[in-house]
Amino acid sequence: MKTTKAIINCTVFDGVGSSTITQGAVLIEGKTISYVGKEDDITITEDIEVIDAQGGFVLPGLINAHDHLSWGYFENETPIEQETLLNRSDGELAIRGIKSGINSIISGVTTVRNCGDVRFVDLDYRHAFQKELFPGPRILVSGPWVVTSYAWITYPGIPTCDGVEEVRKFVRTNLRRGVDLIKIFIGGELLGLCNTNPQQTYISKEELATAIKEAHFHGKKATAHIMSSQSPGFKWAVDAGIDTLDHGIWFTEEDFKLMKSEDIDLVVTGGWWFEGGFADDAYPNAKDILKEWYHRVFNSGVRFAIGPDGRGEVGAMQSEIERLVNYGLDTVTAVQAATKNGAKVCGVENMIGTLEVGKYADILIVDGNPLERISDLRNIHTVIVEGKTQFTKKAGLAINLIVEKN
Ligand SMILES: [Zn+2]
Repeated sequence: MKTTKAIINCTVFDGVGSSTITQGAVLIEGKTISYVGKEDDITITEDIEVIDAQGGFVLPGLINAHDHLSWGYFENETPIEQETLLNRSDGELAIRGIKSGINSIISGVTTVRNCGDVRFVDLDYRHAFQKELFPGPRILVSGPWVVTSYAWITYPGIPTCDGVEEVRKFVRTNLRRGVDLIKIFIGGELLGLCNTNPQQTYISKEELATAIKEAHFHGKKATAHIMSSQSPGFKWAVDAGIDTLDHGIWFTEEDFKLMKSEDIDLVVTGGWWFEGGFADDAYPNAKDILKEWYHRVFNSGVRFAIGPDGRGEVGAMQSEIERLVNYGLDTVTAVQAATKNGAKVCGVENMIGTLEVGKYADILIVDGNPLERISDLRNIHTVIVEGKTQFTKKAGLAINLIVEKN
């Protein structure tokens, strides 16, 4: 079997800066990238497998920095009442997670940071992809959220923790099960779901600091659900050294600048909530909220990644990227939010997020040029994860079938 692959006949965007390489090429040695540059400067020998990009565009695989793969709803389904969804059987949730993972691959998403799922089903679908039972992205999982009993998402059957000792034990239990990050609920939900207030804080300063400290002690990142800096938990989280804050819809430009100075990344999520009509009942001016939020983020210079937050459909990440561009962000920064910045948020920026020698070959090839027309990101040609081709427009998904040998 040929161990070296060469992607040729393409424009390459390595994602490090804003430049592209025309008539470019990428060499893959096993799982990693061994060359990024001009096609003229390499020699294609017989022992190299050639991937002809047919004049297409090569970029880092997309990184979805905030999702819940088992929460997606699919064709012929309306959004499912969340309580109903989370109380479905673990088997169904895991199957839904796998479906969303397959949809991710078809969409060129090669890494997903999964920010919470019930009863550790996220470990099950992570396992299914790791063992190549199904084609799927690399997944970082948080396991169950750190959530106190007087908080949102405390449905029957969802474990909670109160007091420093319970929080410490909760985090340690998650870590022992093998999660990749710790997810904490600070504030209420955007739409006031479960009678919560997005401006309120639902965890004490001490509990919050304990969860963050325990995660860091064991080498993991801590992230938190929070909508507003009116919530005192914002400052507590910053002071306790939180790594990333997710949502932040009512953060001010000053808050974003504080995050930037403290090296805390933002994860912008769920533009579809505002644009798709989902939030219209709660906020008649939903689109204005979205526009003003995006502009505060763009103007502040805070580093941010993006994620659809609970959509399992094909093209969900493309929709989030296009939305940024529609609201005035340049295409390079929008793509980097979904690649380089996503890797930083996941804490794997030394491994993925840009096309550089020595990094994992997580590569997306599309037809067209998304830096000129962002919707070209939907024209998926080939998706490669760690050097393995997972999807091509010609052959579809690469599914490993075990065939009995006679
Ligand atoms: Zn979420």
